[in-house]
Formats: sequence, C-alpha cells, structure tokens
Amino acid sequence: MRLAIALGQRNLGLTWPNPSVGCVVVDESGDVPFIISQGVTQLGGRPHAERVALAEAGERARGATLYVSLEPCSHHGKSPPCTDAVIASGVARVVSALEDPDDRVAGLGHTLLRDAGIAVTTGCLREPAFRIHRGHITRVTKGRPAVTVKLARTTEGFAGSSRGARLMITGEGANARVHMMRAHADAIMVGIGTALADDPLLTVRLPGMEARSPIRIVIDSHLRTPLTARVVAGAREVPTWVVTTIAAPVEAERALVQRGVEVMRVSADAAGHVALPEALHLLGTRGLTRVFCEGGPGLADALARADLIDELVLITGRSARGEGDIPALGMALQERIDELAFMGDDQAESDLFMFWERP
Ligand SMILES: [Zn+2]
Repeated sequence: MRLAIALGQRNLGLTWPNPSVGCVVVDESGDVPFIISQGVTQLGGRPHAERVALAEAGERARGATLYVSLEPCSHHGKSPPCTDAVIASGVARVVSALEDPDDRVAGLGHTLLRDAGIAVTTGCLREPAFRIHRGHITRVTKGRPAVTVKLARTTEGFAGSSRGARLMITGEGANARVHMMRAHADAIMVGIGTALADDPLLTVRLPGMEARSPIRIVIDSHLRTPLTARVVAGAREVPTWVVTTIAAPVEAERALVQRGVEVMRVSADAAGHVALPEALHLLGTRGLTRVFCEGGPGLADALARADLIDELVLITGRSARGEGDIPALGMALQERIDELAFMGDDQAESDLFMFWERP
C-alpha cells in the first residue's frame, strides 16, 4: 500500500478532475510475495490506476492481491467502472485504503467486489492515503478544491515590505521544494497584491518538469491585473484564470481575454472583494481538486477567515535579506492555526518548513 500511495503521489496535479490513484498487483501465493504490476491514474484522469495495473498483469492477476489507494469506481463515467475490470481479472483479494465519498461510489465499489466473491480489506494506511486524496475528497464532499496555503517569512515574521523593496526570504533549496509543491497542484493561486508587487511567473522551473506547470489563478476583485504582467504575457502557453467580481470593469476583462486570459466573475463580499467561498466553489465545478495558494498574507488571511485552508506550509527564511513590515500571519490566520493539526517541521538548507493540516 505504501508503494500504491507513492505512485498516486507521483501524478498529483496531472489527473484532475479525477483523483491520482496508485495500484499494485501482488502475487502472495508463495513464501515471498512479489509485485506483478503497478499503475497510476494517467494524465487527465484516465485510464484509472486499476486498469493500468491490471492491463500490465494480464493473466498473472488471477489469484493475486490488488492494493489500491482509493475504493475502485463502480459507476459508468467516461469509461466503464473499475470494479468490472477487477472482477474480470480474477484477483482473489483487494486491499483498499479508503472509501470514495463520491456518492456514485461511496462503498458500492467495495460491495460489488465482495458480492463477486473477492476478499476485500479496507482502511489499510488510511491516513497517508487520505492525504494524497484530500483534493478529490474535498471536492466531492465540499464542492471545492482543497487549499494549501504557503507563506514565507523572515525570522522577525514579515512576509513583505510596504515600501516596495522585494524581500529575499528563502534560499534555492527551499525554492526547489516549493516548485515541487506547485507541480503537485492543479492550480497556483495568488492575490492581486502579490501579482502587482512581485509580478510572479508562477510556473514550475525544475529541470525536466517545466511541462508540469499548473493553471495560474489571480484573485483580482477590481481587475487591476496589468496587461504587462508575466502571467498575462504567457497566458497562451500556461493557462491563466483571473477571478473577479461582477462589478469589475468590462473593458479590463475584454483586454485580458484578448491576451488569452480566462476571466471569471463571482459575487462580491461586503467589502467589495471576491467572495472566496463562491470563487472556490466555481473552481471546484471546473474540476480543480488541489489549489496551492502562494500569497500573499492578505489572501491567506481572507482564506483563513472563511475557513478555507486545508493545509498550511510556513517557511521561515533564516538568512532572509531585506527589511519587512508586513506580517506573514494575519489575525485570522493566527487564530485559525490553533484549529489545524501541526504535522511537523523540516529543514531545507537554512530555511525551516512547518506544516499544518485540517484534522
Ligand atoms: Zn476507476
């Protein structure tokens, strides 16, 4: 199951709107079990992991055990259900990490397998499997993608400077790790403040992984995203979505759309800002399961206020350069942290990573 979960982890960010599932077929008939085949959900979400692994196993699957990180699907979607393929393969046993809460499945997958005479064990390594499938589970249970907020701060706790000078907070090791987190997301999201202050490119710039850049999203209540912004200039290569309010100027929308940007409108909240619950719900209906929010502190705090943070990554740059005055953790986020579970910390060169997640 650990291998199945690791396989699923590998394609995170590539399979939306479907979960990235891992599957391993094992011959356990002898004294030493051995792996017959393995599979992971393919790009765009099809074929599913079970079908990939079973196709490779062929006749050797007969009598074997199939490990899978999520309950096999039991409904006719764009492809026939995996339960059909599992039953037809002749496997004797299925070990599954967790039930798929999608109400078209929700235990029916396991039941169909049992009814076909297959021994089914569920709940194996449930927690790590939940972690890789959090995006899918959040989308089917809450109608929105799971949100990971990443914030970087100096040792004094500042994320930026109101005087315009850009802070260099993290080193190369930490940046490479952040790029890997981007690659495992369906979309990277920033607020207009960050888009204006940093003009970020928001792509994956790891050698060999450039093609894994997810969709870029700017939350921009009044459509202030400059046409010269790098996320606009490259919108035909890497998709850029701008989420704004119904009150934003139509001319600004037209100019962005002409450059290949997709503009989406949602309601405004009392302060005239993008209503974040509605915005995330919209992203969920577009199929996104995992959104990686890179700032800044204002958007992070608004997400915390709306209880929309599922994972928090806080990086403290211990050799940060420059003087800041904008705190990384706003009031709402400071309060919200107490409701999240601290999952541990980790070091990248001189930078400290700390992780929290929704229990
Ligand atoms: Zn399936």
